[in-house]
Amino acid sequence: MTVIHNLGFPRIGKQRELKRAVEAYWAGELPQGALLQTGKELRSRHWALQKAAGLDLIPVGDFAWYDQILEWTCLLGAVPARFEHAATADVDLDTLFRMARGRAPQGKPAAACEMTKWFDTNYHYIVPEIQPNQSFRLARTALLEQIAEAVEAGYNVKPVIPGPLTWLWLAKGEAYTQGATDAAKLDLLPALLPVYQDVLARIQALGIEWVQIDEPILAVDLPAVWRDAFKGVYSSLQQGSLKVLLATYFDGLRDNVSVLNGLPVEGVHIDAVRAPEQIAAVRAQLSAEQVLSVGIINGRNIWRTDLDKVAQLLKPLKAELGDKLWIAPSCSLLHVPVDVEGEEGLDAELFSWLSFATQKLDELQWLRALVDNKVDATVEAALEAQRKALKTRAESPRTHNPTVAEKVGKLTTLQRDRAPFSERIAAQQARLNLPAFPTTTIGSFPQTQDIRKLRRDWRSGALSDTAYEKEIRAEIERVIRFQEDIDLDVLVHGEAERNDMVEYFGELLGGFAFTQNGWVQSYGSRCVKPPIIFGDVLRVMPMTVAWSQYAQSLTTRPVKGMLTGPVTMLQWSFVRDDQSRADTCRQLALALRDEVHDLEAAGVKIIQIDEPAIREGLPLRKADWDAYLQWAVDCFRISTSNIENDTQIHTHMCYSEFNDIIEAIAAMDADVITIETSRSNMELLEAFENFHYPNDIGPGVYDIHSPNIPDQAWMVELMRKAAKRLPAERLWVNPDCGLKTRGWPETTEALKTMVAAAKELRQA
Ligand code: GLN
Ligand code: ZN
Repeated sequence: MTVIHNLGFPRIGKQRELKRAVEAYWAGELPQGALLQTGKELRSRHWALQKAAGLDLIPVGDFAWYDQILEWTCLLGAVPARFEHAATADVDLDTLFRMARGRAPQGKPAAACEMTKWFDTNYHYIVPEIQPNQSFRLARTALLEQIAEAVEAGYNVKPVIPGPLTWLWLAKGEAYTQGATDAAKLDLLPALLPVYQDVLARIQALGIEWVQIDEPILAVDLPAVWRDAFKGVYSSLQQGSLKVLLATYFDGLRDNVSVLNGLPVEGVHIDAVRAPEQIAAVRAQLSAEQVLSVGIINGRNIWRTDLDKVAQLLKPLKAELGDKLWIAPSCSLLHVPVDVEGEEGLDAELFSWLSFATQKLDELQWLRALVDNKVDATVEAALEAQRKALKTRAESPRTHNPTVAEKVGKLTTLQRDRAPFSERIAAQQARLNLPAFPTTTIGSFPQTQDIRKLRRDWRSGALSDTAYEKEIRAEIERVIRFQEDIDLDVLVHGEAERNDMVEYFGELLGGFAFTQNGWVQSYGSRCVKPPIIFGDVLRVMPMTVAWSQYAQSLTTRPVKGMLTGPVTMLQWSFVRDDQSRADTCRQLALALRDEVHDLEAAGVKIIQIDEPAIREGLPLRKADWDAYLQWAVDCFRISTSNIENDTQIHTHMCYSEFNDIIEAIAAMDADVITIETSRSNMELLEAFENFHYPNDIGPGVYDIHSPNIPDQAWMVELMRKAAKRLPAERLWVNPDCGLKTRGWPETTEALKTMVAAAKELRQA
């Protein structure tokens, strides 16, 4: 039979058991022994489940208390000095947690390590920190214990570890100013590889046949020195009879495929969902003895696979490769929810279209039966059900809406180009009459326990629509009066009615569905529940107009309408796979456009469309950036097409690297952009300065992620720095993101100080 295996299973548990246990431990409510026990139970449950699905090799090493890269960094003993960890001691759990989040039940608090996105996913890993004289040693044995645990329990274990080159690529350090690509990091290999050799020797001693070494950097643009390093590194990792499966995913190898030429590994795993076209090129590099693991069940999405179609692709390969062909999901299943079973809120039809991690393993087993021509009655029944589901999905009137098709057909007639900015801003200023250095906030105000309870009670039916509306209106009024009292210039309604900036809109749009338990780990104990875009997106009714109109009726100052942009909604959802992402995004843009026009008609003078996710949608390869940016920017412009010159469009982005996409940001042509720069002392404005960014900018003057109150002089200083780089008349004064995670006392003080800073600037 063809070997089937899995690259990793979600560790959080179907009911987010790991999250609960870890958070209780942090809060001092759960002893460490009980936490360890929860981890053990989750691992053994997930191994059993994978074995029951017929997998030949069970991954071990996919479990992590916070993050798998952090686990590995601790195993390597690469603990930054500020955590004051004894140079010979094992890295314990609390040290790991202090690295992740700055504190733990035991040990001195210290600044947490940086966290960033794992390739093009929404998962965040803890960035390894290194220095030129970095030493490494085997300093944490949790992985080896887990392997022993699984071997003991009788599983055919395949340990999964991060590759040395990927780990180094992800690592940062003050000395390494080039960032990821810095070739000087490769000088650490002689120190690093002995630990890898030691670990592999111990793995072999546990009776293991295969180890999976992940090198996802093979899917990104690699400088030649990094590519050239592979051969030496993997030669040095050969370890007796232990076989290495080198795993890549998230994109094709493309120009990195030459790395495989003569590479001393026993097998290679590739992502044939993202890049099916690479199969031939990869095969051409492999010898007859090497295994090709084809990742063909999508590990990044939640739709049932067309197994007949996939089997057609695999059968000729099987005929040629025989037992050297393995099949697997495209990447670790970390990026999908655990189990669709029990999702009672979904109707039966939609339910039948979905496949979460547990279902994907079943699919893998059925696929093998197809490829091996060993379909028995049970599998046939399962395949029949799957075929039926796919058919209903392809033919469903719910996925194709003629109203949407008609709107999409008229896309070319929309007026995306607005009048020149100078004309617009003059018209807007005549209407808004704002002072120099106008002050505003990003949208949300503190979401107190009371507000959360209000929404909960309304959802559960404990609170009537009328009562709920009355309470939200009262909250809006409080927020408006507060902003008037502290003398802000452009107000917001506060977003008290929103639990989440995508979910709120998704629930009001046609084509979206929501699960009750479809959690995916985002970072550490934090999980998100991405909406599912299953059909054509249509706005059925206004979504924000009544709240915005009410807020505006309370004051003579302008109140911003507040929307989430099309790209951000796309990026933070599971997106249908039966049409291009660009097409789905255009539908979202059209739906938002309706809202923008209704807001405009209701007399809302300023509309903010948040696009915090536009940058994270960038493809892994630079060669693909332009195509993406073109449709992403176009979608923003679709949502603001055909509006009046004197309607002011704001956008907000809360990431900090603008340099490489500044042209696209300018092409969005928002009248005002508010961004994060306070943490870098305005250095991030450099891109806007060099590019001569023409429109208005609000560089965040304080970091809302910290409870600290910034002082007035410091904010004035920051704005003066900004004014050296950009024309003062183009500048706005605002915090760097929404305030929903903050408390009222610090928000009040910080904003009062910010307004005072703006007034001081106006006098100068
Ligand atoms: N308007 C949103 C808020 O203020 C923006 C959130 C974000 O940038 N992620 O909360
Ligand atoms: Zn933000």
